[in-house]
Amino acid sequence: MRYEGKVAIVTGAGSGIGRATAQRMAREGAKVCLVDVNEAGLADSLPEGDHITMTCDVSDEAQVKGVVDAVMAKWGRIDAVANNAGIACSKEPITGNDMATWTKVLGVNLIGVAHFIKHAGQVMCDQGSGAIVNTASVAGIRSGAGGNAYSASKAGVINLTMTAACDLGGHNVRVNAVCPGLIETGMTKPVFDYARDAGKEDRLGSRCELRRYGRPEEIAAAICFLASDDASYITGQALPVDGGNTASL
Ligand code: NAD
Repeated sequence: MRYEGKVAIVTGAGSGIGRATAQRMAREGAKVCLVDVNEAGLADSLPEGDHITMTCDVSDEAQVKGVVDAVMAKWGRIDAVANNAGIACSKEPITGNDMATWTKVLGVNLIGVAHFIKHAGQVMCDQGSGAIVNTASVAGIRSGAGGNAYSASKAGVINLTMTAACDLGGHNVRVNAVCPGLIETGMTKPVFDYARDAGKEDRLGSRCELRRYGRPEEIAAAICFLASDDASYITGQALPVDGGNTASL
């Protein structure tokens, strides 16, 4: 019950890693605001108890401020934010990229994270405590793991995690990131469907040292650790949670 008496916001909570994170924080005692653009997904994610859902596009600053204001109006504090909402893009070479895709991917994956750090971070600075965990990716650490815009956005999240940790550390606000490897979620469904249809399921995750892909709950466990008081002396770090994928760079 590490989150007893705490208030948390989880973005991308309508599916995958965000859903698992919201449900674990709720099980550990948090009051959770689940945020997503997908209203139907939010309804499926909502745990029993004193929690709320808010439909919000994280790339829109006014909507993000609206979420932070609503949580403050309801519960009067924000102890943890999991910035997890994200979108993927195709893996074609940059010479074929549609630059509108770059704007969209960076808007959600990077600027969306910045929006919540700005607005929830101000609340945390005022209360003198708080923890933010951003979902980056192994694609932000090494090449080849995602499309150009996606990888750039996740590298940006890792750097933003460090700079925000420097900005907010003096207010006792911690900022960290997790870098998942291959996890079975809505985002990776096409990859999993393709591999299974081709009879190549055993190749999924085979490049990492644990020789398997991961589950959303395994990323949620790391997010919940970093956002809890168990990680009280950890800030500015990006933790790979990837079955050892980046251990063999
Ligand atoms: P997912 O598609 O299951 O969940 C992502 C959620 O984000 C969805 O519910 C979606 O509706 C929501 N979302 C998308 N755009 C949004 C927006 N503008 N505003 C609010 N919500 C929005 O995928 P997932 O794998 O659970 O992804 C969670 C995070 O993990 C993402 O940031 C993703 O980049 C990252 N990640 C995933 C993997 C993987 O293998 N699945 C690996 C590395 C990193």
